[in-house]
Amino acid sequence: MPDPRWDDPSLKAGTMVRAALWLVQEVGEGNTFTKEQLRLAFPGIAQADRRVRDLRDFGWVLDTNASDVTLSAEEQRFSKRGVDVWNADVRRAVKRDDGAISNKQRDAVFAAGGYQCAFCGIAGGEPYPDRPAETAVLLVSRRSIETARGGVEQLLVTECKRCRSGAATRTHSVSEVRAMLEDLDAEDLRRIKRWAVQGIRGTTPLDRAWTGFRALPASEQSGLLDQLG
Ligand SMILES: [Zn+2]
Repeated sequence: MPDPRWDDPSLKAGTMVRAALWLVQEVGEGNTFTKEQLRLAFPGIAQADRRVRDLRDFGWVLDTNASDVTLSAEEQRFSKRGVDVWNADVRRAVKRDDGAISNKQRDAVFAAGGYQCAFCGIAGGEPYPDRPAETAVLLVSRRSIETARGGVEQLLVTECKRCRSGAATRTHSVSEVRAMLEDLDAEDLRRIKRWAVQGIRGTTPLDRAWTGFRALPASEQSGLLDQLG
């Protein structure tokens, strides 16, 4: 069966699928396109560039001037075609494969993340500071992280139920955040900058020490504290 035409009015498909077909049929693999061309192809669709980016989850390679300095800020290169997203079966197969996280992977991710949420830093079983009756449950999720080079990588991260549901998201004013950042010592500020680049929170020596300490039986905990004075 031939591929559908990107501009076929009878094609029942979302913007990501249409954009994939547009790239293949109008731009051509290896060629560049501009934001303006994308806007003209998909008039009135505000998030067309985002939908193009979503194609990266399906193995499509799109370069921007973050990954290729010969491109202008307005340009992208359609470098490599990925899976045929207009085929719903193929699309589902990729998604399913993507969604399955094995127990072994999960254990490795928990261990690498120090058994704490990568976003708010809470440890498993620990009560939330602002809601002491609620204790954290940790999960492993697949997150698309935008890297410093402008690409998107799929990472497995530990997060708590609350961060996953977005319930922990509270908007601070810029001046509030600025004041909080200014209160940090130089080392913590460097950490924040590093996390900002990585797109996720990393663990600190303090976190790792605390997580290790919490995992000890109560009798060992008090003994250890006594020894340390
Ligand atoms: Zn969290």
